[in-house]
Amino acid sequence: MPEATATPLALEAPKDNPHCVLMSDTDFDVAVVGAGPAGLVAACLAAARGFTTAMITGPQAERPDPRTVALMMPSLAVLAECGLWPGALKDMTAPLRKLRLIDDTGSLISAPELTFAARELGLEAFGWNIPLVVLKPALEARAEALGVRFFRDSVAGFAVQGDKATLSLGNGALLSARLALAADGRNSLLRRAIGINTISWTYDQSAIAVSFAHSHPHRDVSCEYHKPAGPFTTVPLPGQRSSLVWMETPARAQALMTLDDASLAAEIQASSHGELGRISDVGPRQSFPMSGARAEIFARDRVMLIGETAHVVPPIGAQGLNMSLRDAAEAIALASAAREAGEDIASPKVLGDYDRRRQRDVRPRQTMIDLMNRSLLSGFLPLEAGRAAGLAALSSFGPLRRFAMSAGLGRAVQS
Ligand SMILES: Cc1cc2nc3c(=O)[nH]c(=O)nc-3n(C[C@H](O)[C@H](O)[C@H](O)COP(=O)(O)OP(=O)(O)OC[C@H]3O[C@@H](n4cnc5c(N)ncnc54)[C@H](O)[C@@H]3O)c2cc1C
Repeated sequence: MPEATATPLALEAPKDNPHCVLMSDTDFDVAVVGAGPAGLVAACLAAARGFTTAMITGPQAERPDPRTVALMMPSLAVLAECGLWPGALKDMTAPLRKLRLIDDTGSLISAPELTFAARELGLEAFGWNIPLVVLKPALEARAEALGVRFFRDSVAGFAVQGDKATLSLGNGALLSARLALAADGRNSLLRRAIGINTISWTYDQSAIAVSFAHSHPHRDVSCEYHKPAGPFTTVPLPGQRSSLVWMETPARAQALMTLDDASLAAEIQASSHGELGRISDVGPRQSFPMSGARAEIFARDRVMLIGETAHVVPPIGAQGLNMSLRDAAEAIALASAAREAGEDIASPKVLGDYDRRRQRDVRPRQTMIDLMNRSLLSGFLPLEAGRAAGLAALSSFGPLRRFAMSAGLGRAVQS
């Protein structure tokens, strides 16, 4: 940890949160490291529960993120707890009422088309599709209103001293907290500082994220076309617009990234078989190399790992950020319970409970996503037959389909 002197930090009482009582200018109950969507939600939840909360943002993104995130109903309940849902955010998003899975592999053994309807579960929608360029500023504004103290710097070092975690920032300032939440992303410095290893793997794929306009209505239906190089998934946005996650071989993705907008629109139209009509008005695009990762343990030394610091999955079935919001909710629920019992909010027991509960949710989901993805990529007939049989069973057997829908929402495997 670099030599550092504490920089005085002026604090004001939060306007919007009567529960929050300030302690000292550099001493917090909870410090969240990383202002991605997972960290921002965790900071809002912590402050809403009355914890004095610091947010160390990390570096600013260089360009706007073109991704949208399909957040399922349990995640929207977390946003509601933050005071952000439904509110103004809802008007900038679109519901997902149906999910269609279409076998577009051209395989000898093709799966039947499968449609999941939220209505079958008695729900208005599975979730809503929210652009990250809308979600992140809304979360940041909400966190500020709840009294979260923002430090627009990066964490440079970490130490545990007694019942406190001490974080040093890039500018040399020090701050301390009972509990630190590491949300500083897949290359987390904080995770490495406490010596937690990850297992990681790569896929021979890149995912292009982009949005576009179309002449036919989407009718609030998301379509996942299973193609030999991975899924091509359209997700409704407000009006006659959809977002797209297009998984391709890295070479083909690179070629698509260099196309002009009109040529890319034509490629999207062909790959969606014209089902959304004429494609136009393609938005900014970004390509993401596909990989997976999991930390060997999700908590240690007064630190809980949340979001992509703990787990990375390819964007199949909209699981990534949905799992991360459950991380944030579990972390703050456990800390709150410990505080109510008059106990240390980051005791070995609290950290152990967090690790156990989150591993139980994350591990089977990572396995399912990996299997689904590899069954498309392998070109191996028995694996393709297994996928086709699994989807056929889901298509014809209502209880199994409803179980799969609940699990996809994040309900069935929750402890
Ligand atoms: C194409 C695509 C589509 C997706 N679609 C969906 C979807 O529909 N639904 C879904 O649930 N998920 C989806 N995901 C997953 C989702 O986008 C990610 O899980 C999420 O964006 C990651 O958020 P995060 O907060 O964990 O990490 P990040 O967004 O990576 O945030 C990490 C933060 O830490 C900061 N930081 C880094 N170093 C430091 C430091 N030293 N000190 C302090 N801060 C630091 C960074 O600046 C950054 O702000 C998708 C992913 C992809 C690639």
